[in-house]
Amino acid sequence: MGRLVVVANRVADPRKPGAGGLAVALGEALRASGGLWFGWSGRTVESCSGNRVHQQRAGEITLATVDLSHADYRAYYLGYSNSVLWPVFHYRLDLADFDAGDIEGYRRVNRLLAHKLEPMLRPDDVIWVHDYHLIPLAAELRAMGCAQRIGFFLHIPLPPRTILAAIPQHGWLMRSLMAYDLVGFQGATDRDHFADYVLREAGGQMQGDDRLHAWGRTVRARAVPIGIDVAELESMARGEEAREMRRAMRENYAQRRLLVGVDRLDYSKGLPQRIRAFRRLLEQYPENRRSATLIQVAAPSREDVDAYGDIRHELETLCGALNGDFGELDWMPVRYIRRTVARKRLPGLYAASAVGLVTPLRDGMNLVAKEYVASQDPADPGVLVLSRFAGAAEQLVEALLVNPYDTAGTADAIQQALRMPQEERVVRHARLMQSIRSHDVHWWAHEFLHALADVDA
Ligand code: UDP
Repeated sequence: MGRLVVVANRVADPRKPGAGGLAVALGEALRASGGLWFGWSGRTVESCSGNRVHQQRAGEITLATVDLSHADYRAYYLGYSNSVLWPVFHYRLDLADFDAGDIEGYRRVNRLLAHKLEPMLRPDDVIWVHDYHLIPLAAELRAMGCAQRIGFFLHIPLPPRTILAAIPQHGWLMRSLMAYDLVGFQGATDRDHFADYVLREAGGQMQGDDRLHAWGRTVRARAVPIGIDVAELESMARGEEAREMRRAMRENYAQRRLLVGVDRLDYSKGLPQRIRAFRRLLEQYPENRRSATLIQVAAPSREDVDAYGDIRHELETLCGALNGDFGELDWMPVRYIRRTVARKRLPGLYAASAVGLVTPLRDGMNLVAKEYVASQDPADPGVLVLSRFAGAAEQLVEALLVNPYDTAGTADAIQQALRMPQEERVVRHARLMQSIRSHDVHWWAHEFLHALADVDA
């Protein structure tokens, strides 16, 4: 295989501590071929005449980035990507702001990135494009004559065609995906939605197991679920920060049973529903009062998009009411922390918690679910309560799967988790770990790139 070129909205230096499992796995794949990682720098500038490409070496890898103008950032990132594609792809037509979503800005930035990337490409490069910000990138590269293999991985869900069809440019978007050789999804559900769109909305055909033909092109569509870097997590769990966190939590909450939620403050994460279910638990099963304590970390995210202010307000109102109604002088039911907790400390927080609550209304995968399981003591593990609407639920079937819209059902599952006998916890945990280990982030990168190399270019 030729050199690997990764294109993503953001570029990370995989050598930096806390770069994350994805960066580590991509870094590994890039290193093997002296690869290039290209994308937006994360910086906005007044006006970017010329949009110079900044290049930097990170060991054997080249990192190349461009700045965006304020106007492009608003139109491409805040607008079309995060006010149209993100809500609709998470099944939230009610939150999509089609007026704010500037399709022209989205196209313009994708074209700009293609024009900046093209001169750096070699004929035998293999290009791997990531996520919803960059759907039309391959079409732009093809229009410039690029014939390299190009793969795309969608990190977020793909909704059914009836929801997708609410996007005024849905035909153009899905047709753009046909410019890739391989399109990867988090799960079979997402892949099936794509196939259904191509067959029924675009009048395409299925050829063999995973080939879809439409608009004069053939693309392969595969489910390749992303995983975590188990070894990285284990090493973080042994580190000073995680051990200190675990010790402090155990000490401060010695008389309590801890439940933990760690999420970006995003409306897809089902945070208000989670607080309602926890409240129901305390109402329905009063033995948990003065004992069960939910630590909810909500990391600030996309605060420039209006819908994120609304979810914060709703969550804060619910947490305040819960603590006001049930709290005692020496016990508060929920600790809500609107801050990012350093990755290195998280394994300690997970390990100290008897229950991990991962209850999104919709999620591409949800890595926190896997991190929670991988941080547990196999001899005395905590229990994962997982939404059936997270991509992870296709794999983590030994978790307690819940419907987060069902408040009473979720409260019952939390109660079951809190009361689960050790023997059952150990068996479930071992099975979950088997799946998390065999389908880790290295497997994911290898599987995708192997499938891409297999495509007849
Ligand atoms: N994370 C973190 N600190 C926080 C909250 C989250 O380091 O305060 C990390 C978390 O460990 C996980 C990632 O951010 O690796 C979130 O990934 P996930 O797939 O769960 O959700 P996303 O934010 O991508 O929707």
